[in-house]
Amino acid sequence: MPQTVRVALNRPIRRLFDYIAPDQMALVPGQRVQVPFGQRHATGLVVETDVTPPPGIDLKPVSKTLESWPALPTETLNLLTWASGYYQHPLGECLFMALPPALRKGRPAEPAEEDSWWAVADASTEGLPGNARRQRQLLSLLQEHPRPMAWSQLRHRGYTLPQLKGLIEKGLVRQAEPPESASTPATATETFPTLTDAQRIAADALPDGKDFSATLLYGITGSGKTELYLDYLKRTLDDSAQALVLVPEINLTPQTVARFHRYFGDRIVVWHSALNDRQRLQTWLRVREGEPVILIGTRSAVLLPFTRLQTIVVDEEHDSSYKQGEGFRYSARDLAVFRARENQCPIILGSATPSLESLQNAATGKYRQVDLTERAGTASPPRLRLLDIRSRPLNGGLSRPAMDDIRTTLAAGEQVLVYINRRGFAPVLMCFDCGHIAECPHCDTHLTYHRRDRALRCHHCDYQQPAFSQCPKCAGEACQPVGQGTEQTEDVLATSFPDVPVLRIDRDSTQRKGSIQAILKQVNSGEPCILVGTQMVAKGHDFPNVTLVVVVNADGGLFSVDFRAPEQMVQTLLQVSGRAGRGEKPGRVLIQTCHSDHPLLTTIAQGDYLAMARQLLAEREQINLPPFRAMAVLRAEAPSMEAALTFLDQARNDLPSDTLDIWGPLPATMARKAGRHRAQLVLQSSGRGGLNRTLARLCARLDQQRLPTSLRWMVDVDPLETG
Ligand code: ADP
Ligand code: ZN
Repeated sequence: MPQTVRVALNRPIRRLFDYIAPDQMALVPGQRVQVPFGQRHATGLVVETDVTPPPGIDLKPVSKTLESWPALPTETLNLLTWASGYYQHPLGECLFMALPPALRKGRPAEPAEEDSWWAVADASTEGLPGNARRQRQLLSLLQEHPRPMAWSQLRHRGYTLPQLKGLIEKGLVRQAEPPESASTPATATETFPTLTDAQRIAADALPDGKDFSATLLYGITGSGKTELYLDYLKRTLDDSAQALVLVPEINLTPQTVARFHRYFGDRIVVWHSALNDRQRLQTWLRVREGEPVILIGTRSAVLLPFTRLQTIVVDEEHDSSYKQGEGFRYSARDLAVFRARENQCPIILGSATPSLESLQNAATGKYRQVDLTERAGTASPPRLRLLDIRSRPLNGGLSRPAMDDIRTTLAAGEQVLVYINRRGFAPVLMCFDCGHIAECPHCDTHLTYHRRDRALRCHHCDYQQPAFSQCPKCAGEACQPVGQGTEQTEDVLATSFPDVPVLRIDRDSTQRKGSIQAILKQVNSGEPCILVGTQMVAKGHDFPNVTLVVVVNADGGLFSVDFRAPEQMVQTLLQVSGRAGRGEKPGRVLIQTCHSDHPLLTTIAQGDYLAMARQLLAEREQINLPPFRAMAVLRAEAPSMEAALTFLDQARNDLPSDTLDIWGPLPATMARKAGRHRAQLVLQSSGRGGLNRTLARLCARLDQQRLPTSLRWMVDVDPLETG
């Protein structure tokens, strides 16, 4: 009897397809195959073997297998299968997310011709089996060769991929980094900081075993969490094991990667969105081959096919970038915890502002909690001051006292960081005669005014138009920009302080190659300068000479409808404040607000995150919100609001109202985006399992319904926003 296999395809369908394995061949789950699909061929992944196909169907044979080994090892396969069920996303698309683009397209899983290898310093042939003659020869060849050798050279000399892989798996041979990420291993004379007493105590409390445990490391900003991760990995990681370090953002903080490099040299490998397809394949293969790497990566690194994972660190575990916002809406942090449990290995979740979810897990004993509440070295926590700006004249959003503070700081030879909370504060073009504000014709939102090129742009779709001076509504001539934007503040700072550089950190300056490096070089010179930016400036930077942080306007999160807004506001404000006074000089933070008596802000001014988090958790418990309940959102998008609401109404009628709390359907906060109308249904339940089963039934039912093609629906489990 030929083997029958069940195959997942990279398609948005909740269905798998059965095929017959090629003659004399036994396939295994995780293996890549090519199968006939419709009129064409598709790349597939075997998920099950020896299945009983539904009766009466003539199965087609698999056209070919793409490798003899499973691209996805069992553990990765289990992780994604679980995630597909938990996040209600089609299994095929989930599994293909774990492959690099080249392998998704069916290309061979082979190193590129120019990828090159070298023998590690103390490599010896002792561990090799007696009959591995060619492997011995290959090793001596690499040992004798002064520089790494390219795969094309090795293949020319008649060596095969399995021979090379054998040496890699034994840790005798490593791949050379491509030149752009060349490492700078520590020189013998370089010294590393000794842990402070407080750090030592925290370090000793971190897990030293190899079993599963989840530890929440609450370490205030500048307490030296990165130093602790380094110490932890140095102490506990075996030479032959792999480690995963998740970070929210790599391009922004090359210093962090550099610190890891200095400790671990070539073991450090990075994974982030700026890698090209070739680099992705190369890194993916190194991980899949079990090379003992320490992989520092952003969100999708949690899906990589590790085979010897021994520990996981999630830095800034509260960061919203860990949650994927579209398609397969997974949380990398939560998948990392699942993965650690599957693997029976420890995981450390670090943050100065832990998420309420993780704090609650620590409170109930699911996580251990380790506190580090002193800053490292001589640094002390920054002093926070609220400045009420009601009826104060502002220039580019900045008040007189703020400008005075900036002036004194620069005069003292120190650096300033100006943080602009853009949420809800984008500048708009308004007619001062009739009050008309320019709006996007496709979205329920105002157009943002861009001063540089006098353009009006929608930040939710591609729409843009030139700014106008004559009001399109009343024909008056009094159109003026109002509100606060980065550019305006930047201009005011540049004119007021012409002698110091004003450096902008935003998405643009972080994505253009070399641009962030140039900025960091300026900052690291220690010379007076002003950094201006939005959310990006709050993330993980370590600038010792920044002594003043100015928050242009703190009020964005105070009155938002979203239940997570206060938590996110507190986290961002404390994170950005944490950029002040990280070196020897003390730091100050000036927070401008129109609500200086708001209880949330007055507590923020005391700087005690745990106290605030307790308060926020108590509120969530009182009104029955996550983390005290499980939440999911069913969203719908249609050409009309009526169509979206009718669809959700029907979905609601089919849901069990006794076990679920259902809100809605309601139009989304931005009810129209890019011309489409959007609505949502919020589902809450006291049990995750119950909610999960209900959602699975709901998705199966909706899949079978004949819906107009113009209607799109999606499920978001553990949503970050309910707007
Ligand atoms: P966090 O990640 O907690 O914000 P970092 O690990 O970036 O903190 O450390 C903050 C600063 O303190 C860095 O400049 C780091 O080099 C320094 N630092 C940390 N630990 C020590 C130590 N034990 N001795 C001297 N400097 C330290
Ligand atoms: Zn728009």
